[in-house]
Amino acid sequence: SKAKLFDQNTDVKVSFKDVAGLEGAKEEVQEIVDFLKNPEKYTALGGKIPKGALLVGPPGTGKTLLAKAVAGEAKVPFFSLSGSDFVEMFVGVGASRVRDLFKQAKEKSPSIIFIDEIDAIGRARGKSNFSGSNDERENTLNQLLTEMDGFGTNTNVIVLAATNRADVLDKALMRAGRFDRQIFVDLPDIRERKEIFEVHLRPLKKAKNLDTDFLSKQTPGFSGADIANVCNEAALIAARNGKKAVDKQDFLDAVDRIIGGLEKKNKIIT
Ligand code: ATP
Repeated sequence: SKAKLFDQNTDVKVSFKDVAGLEGAKEEVQEIVDFLKNPEKYTALGGKIPKGALLVGPPGTGKTLLAKAVAGEAKVPFFSLSGSDFVEMFVGVGASRVRDLFKQAKEKSPSIIFIDEIDAIGRARGKSNFSGSNDERENTLNQLLTEMDGFGTNTNVIVLAATNRADVLDKALMRAGRFDRQIFVDLPDIRERKEIFEVHLRPLKKAKNLDTDFLSKQTPGFSGADIANVCNEAALIAARNGKKAVDKQDFLDAVDRIIGGLEKKNKIIT
């Protein structure tokens, strides 16, 4: 396969101001930013810098965005891969892919490794609904555990992983010295939705009648990703109608469209 083994971004532009709401989660990852910027400050006192943290929460709530923002704030390279890619693209090379990823991240340390959808490789052993061979998945998981145990406290690589199914993860992943911190990234409440709207309205040409209090009231249950979609969809609807600015009606139409899409998605799942 010619597919990339993992992604590497040495100049991440995302910062905490791109992440709306999530005050608690941002506070927790701020500590990781400090570790990455000033490891000596912590190790000098004999402390052990954490190796990993698990970002737990529903789809589209900003877990990937938050992980990127950690790299952006600390100005360190961001190495990432998605657990689901293992299933689809890399049969037979999962373990070596993990090995290469950690090797690169160590060479470029301080750095962040981000593993999205870690449940695809980190499901409790023997309880998998993995479509490929179970041995393959276990080899990959074992390699990940080996790598995390292998690097010392002065390696300055922090591994962030995201999941919306922490309950299915192999307990071995959560042991001390691995992903021993969990950071919850929940769906936004009304106040947080307003903040997310403010972020995603920034690039749009807005009509005067736009009111973010109103928009956040219209979107209960929406994730940050849903809100980003609404904003983009509203801009496309306005353009299609030949408008010079995106107005309230365009947003209402976009909300309807996204709700329609969400309902369809839920029907497929149930
Ligand atoms: P998944 O579990 O589906 O991978 P995720 O939790 O990693 O989702 P992201 O990929 O980070 O979610 O979010 C997708 C997009 O939604 C982001 O790139 C951003 O545009 C928007 N978004 C989500 N949450 C927020 C937020 N808190 N603030 C601003 N934008 C957000």
